[in-house]
Amino acid sequence: MRSVEVETHCHTNVSKHAYSTILENVQYAASVGLKGVCITDHGPELFDGAPSYYFSNLNLVSKEMYGVRIFKGAEVSIMDKNGRIDLSGKGLTRSLEWVIASIHLPEFAPEDFESVTSAYWNVAENPYVDVIGHCGRGNWLFDREKVLKKVKETGKLIEINEHSFDSGKDAARRCYEIAKRCKELEIPIVISSDAHFAGAIGGYRRAQALLEELCYPEDQILNLDFSRFDAYIEARRQRLKNLSVST
Ligand SMILES: [Zn+2]
Ligand SMILES: [Zn+2]
Repeated sequence: MRSVEVETHCHTNVSKHAYSTILENVQYAASVGLKGVCITDHGPELFDGAPSYYFSNLNLVSKEMYGVRIFKGAEVSIMDKNGRIDLSGKGLTRSLEWVIASIHLPEFAPEDFESVTSAYWNVAENPYVDVIGHCGRGNWLFDREKVLKKVKETGKLIEINEHSFDSGKDAARRCYEIAKRCKELEIPIVISSDAHFAGAIGGYRRAQALLEELCYPEDQILNLDFSRFDAYIEARRQRLKNLSVST
């Protein structure tokens, strides 16, 4: 498989269990040959999340440094079965170019299969959400068929997250099953590190091995190609601009 060109998920020390700055992440990304990096800190309602103002103000960060395009992003938390996310208003709309929506414990305590299914199903309808984050991880089981068909219908992406493989064999098996069904349904995906330290950026060994085993079509992995990812971001920007005009 060709190399990933855009890191789509990494944290900075704005999230208090991560340990590098934006600049350190970008410098490291440049040193391992990445062409783009999405900075994706947690939303305001997670225990270590950044305030809403942090996200609305992100546009003062340079667009490019050290030859690396810096995409301003967030990893928002899905808060309930209605798919509510922990960022709204200008925090969500003003500067962000890329939004990952993930379930995190304990903010979302998924008591049952239906609640998790409903949470993913509903968040897939949010026009600001680009990708469902690390849904193979943790104890939150859901109706994969129903959710993935909804993801397909709404044009969202699924993330294959390297950090999920640290959660054990069950998580690795679930990631495999999710990716396998995504391939069958022709759902585009991204590979991410979910780095919490700059040195983990660009590390996708287990995620890539899984996708190689599945012979996942490379043209369905959005962040293998910088130009394709950048075109997606531009199309997203236009779509959301039209949305705000029409509402
Ligand atoms: Zn997460
Ligand atoms: Zn994360």
